[in-house]
Amino acid sequence: MSTLKRSEVNIEETWNLADLFATEQQFEDAIVEAKEVATAIAETYKGKIVDTESAVNVIAAYEKLYEKLVPIGTYANLAHSVEQTDSEAQMRAAKVGQFHSALGAQLSFIQSELLQLDESVLVEASEKAPQYANYIRKLLRQKPYQLHPEAEKALAAFGTTFDAAYGLYNTTKLVDMQFPNFEANGESYPLSYNLFEGDWEPENDKEVRHAAFEAFHSKLREYQHTTAKTYDTHLKTEKTEADLRGYSSVFDYLLQSQEVDRTLYDRQIDLIMSELAPHMRRYAKLLQKVHKLEQMTFADLKISLDPSYEPKVTIDESRKYMKEGLAVMGADYAEMLDRSFDERWTDFANNAGKSTGAFCSSPFGYHPYILISWTSKMNEVFVLAHELGHAGHFYLANANQNIYNARPSLYFIEAPSTMNEMLMANHLLQNSNDARFKRWVISTIVSRTYYHNFVTHLLEAAYQRKVYDIIDAGGSVNAPKLNELKRSVLEQFWGDTVDILDGAELTWMRQPHYYMGLYPYTYSAGLTISTQVSKRILEEGEPAVADWINVLKAGGTQSPVELAKMAGVDITTEEPLRNTISYIGSLIDELEKLTAELGEI
Ligand SMILES: [Zn+2]
Repeated sequence: MSTLKRSEVNIEETWNLADLFATEQQFEDAIVEAKEVATAIAETYKGKIVDTESAVNVIAAYEKLYEKLVPIGTYANLAHSVEQTDSEAQMRAAKVGQFHSALGAQLSFIQSELLQLDESVLVEASEKAPQYANYIRKLLRQKPYQLHPEAEKALAAFGTTFDAAYGLYNTTKLVDMQFPNFEANGESYPLSYNLFEGDWEPENDKEVRHAAFEAFHSKLREYQHTTAKTYDTHLKTEKTEADLRGYSSVFDYLLQSQEVDRTLYDRQIDLIMSELAPHMRRYAKLLQKVHKLEQMTFADLKISLDPSYEPKVTIDESRKYMKEGLAVMGADYAEMLDRSFDERWTDFANNAGKSTGAFCSSPFGYHPYILISWTSKMNEVFVLAHELGHAGHFYLANANQNIYNARPSLYFIEAPSTMNEMLMANHLLQNSNDARFKRWVISTIVSRTYYHNFVTHLLEAAYQRKVYDIIDAGGSVNAPKLNELKRSVLEQFWGDTVDILDGAELTWMRQPHYYMGLYPYTYSAGLTISTQVSKRILEEGEPAVADWINVLKAGGTQSPVELAKMAGVDITTEEPLRNTISYIGSLIDELEKLTAELGEI
């Protein structure tokens, strides 16, 4: 196992950024052109947005500019994400950030002037230009929180400064933090963020797994104070903006753009903390029995139920799995899957300095891009299906909506992605009678899909809510406080079943989501919707698929409640979440049964 440099990876395993800009010169030219367009918009409209006609015209002019900005930002960010240590990529990303801030300040007058118009003028504008009705509706929701135009301009000019905490977090984590090799069983092993999460956390050898856990967390510990200070800075920025704009709490401020009220947010966290915990503790006990562990610890939660059964899959083979597993989505979707492989949408390579985890970026007007670090373990099939779920969503939304209407609320973002994981699992289960393989599939769904979305991210959400409670009350956080909060959430969820080892309290340092508002809880919200819809697809087939495709095409034209309703799920009640939790319980029953059948306990 070695960690390759970016320059050493196979180009076929990288994504093709040339589809955004064929040359660096074209990228530079695009920035110059965007600056010119922005200046022209300012000259034409500043101080002149006075009636319905000028309102519609400026929204249309900005739409064109917005479309030009998308590839610029995407190109810089994607190039940076595969090689965070590369100086050129760092400087390019920083330059684009600065460019966006300057542009934001130059054009902040658009929103200010639109919101100074009488509401009836804007309503008339949405009737005259229905393609902008959604944009105007969202704009009007912000009206009570809009500041004086000069204040808005100043805030926009500080855009990159306000976002700096996230960049600092990543710099500490991915550039400064260098992990030394660790020793176990008399041998030396390499360590990095990706190696820890991809290989050592699920490692079957207890000595190696625990030695990696120790080494990983002692390195994190060295950076805990810087990371906590960075996070506190981010929280203060959010709190200050929430206060300046007159929101009654930082929660309301952060939930505003999600078009979700506090009940839906709190319900997701409270119900899962109390009702899912007993099921997951049973799962932890099952792992403990199968692995004959004296004690079940936090370092053992990611091990596989059947470590001797670990199917491998190559990148080439993954294509066949995607095509077959997602075939139920229809011919157009299948064509999109083919394109993703033929046109190199995905960066599979495993190299030093690459962002951890996996993500999908779907620039409007271009094809989606997926980042993943392929380990050849079969569970990558689920990771890729997940990211292709995001790709498929925006492939359809971008093709059917304008740039203002394409993106739905964060609350809904993880529904199409987790849907693909469910479809993949259903396909694999339907096509096998082998108890061992079935157990592997179900345990992957539990240990990956549900664990990730309903446990890992949910415990982040529960912790994050405690953090924001402190910030909302005017307090601050530091490393000891964050450690205490994180530990208390882990202990509450796992009870006596799992020993929360020293180091586990630092888990808060690992997650970039804390820089993205109230994001962590949306994973379980999305998976609640997709669990219910995937059941419908199993039971009803075609009509349920057709509903789902329409939901994907709708993009951001509807609120999360409306989108879920289009797919036949009513998320204003507790029922879908309760059904999903009992479904997870039934999967764990099945695992216990299959394990007993296989004679392992
Ligand atoms: Zn996702």
